[in-house]
Amino acid sequence: MNSLWTSTSNTRSGFESLKGSEVADVAVVGGGITGVTTALRLAEAGMSVALVESARIGAGNTGRSTGNLYATLSHGLATLLGKWGEETLRSVVRLRGEAVAQIARDVETLRLDCDFERVDLHIGLEQEAGDALQALREEFAALALAGLAPDWVEPPLALASGRMLRIRGQAQCNPCAYVQALAAQAQRRGARLFEETRVIDIDASEGRVRTTDGEIRAGAIVIATHSPIGFNLVQAEMQPCIEYGISARVEAGAMPSGIFWFRDGEHSLRRYRHAGVEHLVVIGEPHRTGEQAPEAVRLERLRGFARRHFGVETFEHCWSAQQLRSADGLPYIGRSAHDNVFIATGFAADGLTWGTVAAGLIRDLVQDKGNPAVDLLSPRRLTPVKSAKGWAEENAAVVKHLVGDRLRQVEPASLSSVAPGQGKLVDHQGKTFAVYRASDGTLTVLSPVCPHLRCHVAWNPEQPGWDCPCHGSRFHPDGRVLDGPALSDLERLRLEDAR
Ligand SMILES: Cc1cc2nc3c(=O)[nH]c(=O)nc-3n(C[C@H](O)[C@H](O)[C@H](O)COP(=O)(O)OP(=O)(O)OC[C@H]3O[C@@H](n4cnc5c(N)ncnc54)[C@H](O)[C@@H]3O)c2cc1C
Repeated sequence: MNSLWTSTSNTRSGFESLKGSEVADVAVVGGGITGVTTALRLAEAGMSVALVESARIGAGNTGRSTGNLYATLSHGLATLLGKWGEETLRSVVRLRGEAVAQIARDVETLRLDCDFERVDLHIGLEQEAGDALQALREEFAALALAGLAPDWVEPPLALASGRMLRIRGQAQCNPCAYVQALAAQAQRRGARLFEETRVIDIDASEGRVRTTDGEIRAGAIVIATHSPIGFNLVQAEMQPCIEYGISARVEAGAMPSGIFWFRDGEHSLRRYRHAGVEHLVVIGEPHRTGEQAPEAVRLERLRGFARRHFGVETFEHCWSAQQLRSADGLPYIGRSAHDNVFIATGFAADGLTWGTVAAGLIRDLVQDKGNPAVDLLSPRRLTPVKSAKGWAEENAAVVKHLVGDRLRQVEPASLSSVAPGQGKLVDHQGKTFAVYRASDGTLTVLSPVCPHLRCHVAWNPEQPGWDCPCHGSRFHPDGRVLDGPALSDLERLRLEDAR
């Protein structure tokens, strides 16, 4: 499934895959907004950088986002204020506001072709009801306290019920085009970039990043893979969640300019004008990764929403992306348990701006320079009270999967009941297998145990593949790892009597 952004950008950035050995000051793993911006910032600082991306630059979660850039947080500043207090509220908004300004500067000075524009952000309700309205008023107060000077406006969209809260001067772009243009700039400054190069092992003590056909030796390693690959304690603190997007062609003027968030319906809307065509983008229908949620139904609900409220001419693209929410509401950016390994994760649905914050912070840490955000965003922080509710919820879910998966009665289906194009967890002679039958009838028999922290994977029928509900790893139907934190594939098993 291609997003509107990947479809309207270059699908091939043209970087070779890595074959052989490279030596660099810094190895960056992951070619999304976080990795590419970090590579550029480090190259600008005069460091030698090698970046590896397992697929295409910008085509990960960055190229499946909404392309909105803002100083606030999508789950609300009132929540942040309640957990962290006024000082942190102001720091977060300042850091994020500076990152949006940095993106705007880069777009202008580096002439990045990515349809960047300054727009207003609107937050409102689809149904004006007591509790939701009260929450919106509290959000207004938190935004004002943070210095974002919100105001109440008559809604520019008819679907809004009641007035909307507005924050001026935020921004939007095509996120995939932005990152690809940034990658070209990093290369111009000497960074070496490699696509279609999967990292399969990281040895922190030796400063070695091993890929399928080569390796990088580096003094510092930045893991910018969205969910940090390999084992990292912060994974136990994060909740993986999938959300969907659709785009449609609409009549000129049907969708006003701006960012539109509807709190109660959990919909995010924007317009994208590209090559003289007007597109509507609708994002929504979030759910936990790995949990049963028919994608076709969810996408159809988004289309129904678009049809009800806009003059849709045709539907074009549909896609999904994953977000990782930290338990205490702030991302984890900085040194991991190893002093020479840096991570940036837990961005929730705000990672275009957090990824940009991360790039500046990691550049400073690598160079041993001071940065005011080091302690606040440190992955080593311990915030038991602020995390308590989120941590309990998240770990109840993980424990449910670690324990429940094993105890659950797996459907006592025979292998022959797995239809072509389908995968199933089946019980066979007292053991559980993850079985996929290709359209030509060939069976792939795999261990259902995710190699990351040993939860059982679940079949995702709509985006054929195996998803891990615990920490969000995703696998191809044939077991190849597509998304971390897992580093290795699902184990292939031989089932002599498989029919
Ligand atoms: C539906 C949705 C909409 C969103 N909209 C917005 C928005 O409007 N604004 C906003 O600020 N945020 C938004 N977000 C969040 C945002 O998309 C992400 O937080 C952000 O893109 C993360 O960027 P990243 O570079 O860290 O990760 P990614 O863009 O996912 O990049 C990580 C890269 O690492 C690569 N990789 C993974 N494993 C390996 C490996 N072993 N070896 C080599 N490479 C590897 C992947 O292929 C990938 O390209 C949204 C999220 C969702 C779910």
